[in-house]
Amino acid sequence: MSTKATVEKLVSLCKRRGIVFQSSEIYGGIGGFWDYGPLGVELKNNIKRAWWKAVVQERDDMVGLDAAIVMNPTVWKASGHLDTFADPMVDCKDCKRRFRADELARHVPASAHGHAAEAPILRCPECGGELTEPRMFNLMFRTYVGPVEDDASVAYLRPETAQGMFVNFGNVLQTTRKKLPFGIAQIGKAFRNEITPGNFIFRDREFEQMEIEYFVKPGTDEEWHQHWVEERHRWYLNLGLSPERLRVRRLDREELAHYAKDTYEVEYLFPMGWSELEGIANRTDFDLGRHAEFSGRVLEYFDEETGEHVVPYVIEPSSGVDRLLMAFLMDAYDEEEVRGETRAILRLHKDLAPTKVAVLPLSRNEQLVPPAREVWALLRPHWMTQYDDAQAIGRRYRRQDEVGTPYCVTIDFDTLTDQAVTIRERDSMEQVRVPIANLVAALREKLD
Ligand code: ATP
Repeated sequence: MSTKATVEKLVSLCKRRGIVFQSSEIYGGIGGFWDYGPLGVELKNNIKRAWWKAVVQERDDMVGLDAAIVMNPTVWKASGHLDTFADPMVDCKDCKRRFRADELARHVPASAHGHAAEAPILRCPECGGELTEPRMFNLMFRTYVGPVEDDASVAYLRPETAQGMFVNFGNVLQTTRKKLPFGIAQIGKAFRNEITPGNFIFRDREFEQMEIEYFVKPGTDEEWHQHWVEERHRWYLNLGLSPERLRVRRLDREELAHYAKDTYEVEYLFPMGWSELEGIANRTDFDLGRHAEFSGRVLEYFDEETGEHVVPYVIEPSSGVDRLLMAFLMDAYDEEEVRGETRAILRLHKDLAPTKVAVLPLSRNEQLVPPAREVWALLRPHWMTQYDDAQAIGRRYRRQDEVGTPYCVTIDFDTLTDQAVTIRERDSMEQVRVPIANLVAALREKLD
């Protein structure tokens, strides 16, 4: 990430260029919900595609799944979410603002923590007012299934995609005949009624997860855990995140979730500090064991080699698309001086760039527009493209740089006689002349 990136600049760029909008903005918005604009949806799809390719398509031990968002509520009893998926919440008695007690405590200087056995007395960070006692607040969104709103019809929007994979373990095993070790991957929406959403799209109430449940023989779990930590770390580096702003951190014992034997986090250095992009947990046989207990079904694997039934251990790499999108944008953002002007540029990996090629006639001259439109039609079946003929060519290059388009193709007056166009590369600004007949092949070599 260039030191020039700030959250404010990113929010402004995302709004101005149609990457991320505040949800229901014309009604004043709604906290923790965001809409992805025309370029944002492309970027998001590209992140998901890159992940799916790496963890499903290119592997022989992974399959995909797309489970429902609303599940039988017993799932959440078995998983522990109904009892434990809660954060401590405090309110300011004066200004009425609401905070997560654990987050406030984290900002108390170490000396205050170390002092007495009782918790330090915290004040409202906004107005210094007195705070209420912490109350536990369950983060799951509740809804009702069917026309009657009573206790029997209560259901929840899933707070993670993981449980859909655990409860389908038997179905997937039977239908794919996979042998251990194997994994299930899923991308989908998750919902958490976060007490304090914020930092743009970092912490949302509706977000998308990309999760893997990788089932292994007990005893081989630690080895597979290391495998996935390395694989996932490498994935971020391959997509161009700056190595010095990316780290893998092993959680301390006291940080572990109730189901985890060991957990690593892939963290990115955002302007607000090192923050989690992905958690990679060893969940042991906790989930399959609990679902077997609550459903009365057998959720085991028959090992033909040993003739034994085993409950597999699970390694879970779990990441959030929205958080990753923010990290990729922050990391790619740069500004540089070109001929006395500042150009803002997103140095996005070409696989992630929302638009791969922009087609730009030198001007709106009536002789240039028809061949430019033909070139555009030639490229559209192959890549996401944009056509832009408004304003001076230099400004149009800047507009494409700002949204990370790796290549611009320019049609000028020479095109009318030599049937060739200019390809301009985003980062180096180098230009090469290519016959239109070779354009698709030339771009394919650069992009694929
Ligand atoms: P945090 O500690 O930041 O609340 P978590 O440890 O609760 O996160 P997990 O339950 O491990 O998060 O979820 C896996 C991934 O899902 C996270 O690494 C993150 O990328 C994403 N994620 C979780 N909660 C949110 C949220 N509220 N908004 C956006 N992404 C989220």
